[in-house]
Amino acid sequence: MKVVLQNLTKKFPSRDKRKRDEVIAVRDFNFEIPDGKLIGLLGPSGCGKSTTLNLISGLVKPTEGRIFFGEDDVTELPPENRGIGLVFQNYALYPHLTVRQNILFPLQNLKGKDKLSKEEMENKVIEAAKLVQIDELMERKPRELSGGQQQRVAIARAMVKMPNVLLLDEPLSNLDARLRLQTREEIRRIQRETKITTIFVTHDQEEAMSISDMIVVMKDGAVHQIGKPQEVYDAPVNLFVAKFLGTPPINTFYGRIKENKLYIGDDAVLLVRGVPDTEVFAGVRPEGFILSEEGPFRCDLNRVEVMGRDISVVSTNKECLNPVVRSIIGTETKADIGVDKVAKSGIVRFFLIPHKVFLFDRETEERIDAEVCSL
Ligand code: ADP
Ligand code: MG
Repeated sequence: MKVVLQNLTKKFPSRDKRKRDEVIAVRDFNFEIPDGKLIGLLGPSGCGKSTTLNLISGLVKPTEGRIFFGEDDVTELPPENRGIGLVFQNYALYPHLTVRQNILFPLQNLKGKDKLSKEEMENKVIEAAKLVQIDELMERKPRELSGGQQQRVAIARAMVKMPNVLLLDEPLSNLDARLRLQTREEIRRIQRETKITTIFVTHDQEEAMSISDMIVVMKDGAVHQIGKPQEVYDAPVNLFVAKFLGTPPINTFYGRIKENKLYIGDDAVLLVRGVPDTEVFAGVRPEGFILSEEGPFRCDLNRVEVMGRDISVVSTNKECLNPVVRSIIGTETKADIGVDKVAKSGIVRFFLIPHKVFLFDRETEERIDAEVCSL
């Protein structure tokens, strides 16, 4: 089912009663979530992700704007009538009920024409348990399960009614790194199998990038960019989005456009067409550096880190806003790059790969539309 958010805004009164100012948790959110897709709602803590999710679920009423499920306006509908499944960070299972009883719980509350027979309920419970692969653990209590298993039960409970929309609020945050990876693959698989429109909230860009059909990047209650993960990574609209996506993060430099060239410090590093002479921020993705003795861009070598597949050259540059410049060089080119040779002089030189370099306005931090190419 598609979900349409129309001018959605939520203001909370200030927590400090003496102050009049209010918190705008979500401001003017507009988005048509396509049917059957998995959307990653991404942004730093406090940017309004949970509030957005709670508006969609009906747990929070919007100050302005409307919400549609399909063609139906659900803005005034209470949560229990919206056909949603909810999963939170803390699994919130009933501790005194078994796995089976926990998953069964939402079905027992169905009334009128939705009411199910005992057998129908049992079948649905088994089906949901199988989907998340916990059908062997049906008679256990939550305390007898690992965190990952508990979260699977919570997902099964959210899925048992086959909701129109599945809402997940940082569902993997309480799991250790390995389980987090595994469970996120599971969520992806379940979503693909059931084709339930799913909104997945996280502050972890890698998590969102890896499983989402589309991501929505938020900051301070506002949507900054919506798109396919790779598209947003390759064409961020502003410096915030560029910095928020990618590990290691993008390297940001003070730069200058002068006579169609991008300068970082004294080094002319790239050709730039279509931009008048001005000061900019230049963002360079870690994979945007080519180590070469002839390279125009000079940095002071700090150290070389070999991390299996890649080599990371860590250097410094006085125009860089990050503490160090991180460049990732594929090991297949190891023989040619002569790290040892350059290392002796204390200076490393790079060519920059044009499509890995973004220019941003110094004032607004919006990306500048420019044609960037090699010198
Ligand atoms: P996120 O989930 O992205 O971390 P939230 O949606 O929880 O962010 O919060 C967004 C903003 O709204 C924050 O500044 C938060 O303090 C504020 N906020 C959230 N819920 C309430 C509330 N019930 N009362 C007042 N302020 C709130
Ligand atoms: Mg939250």
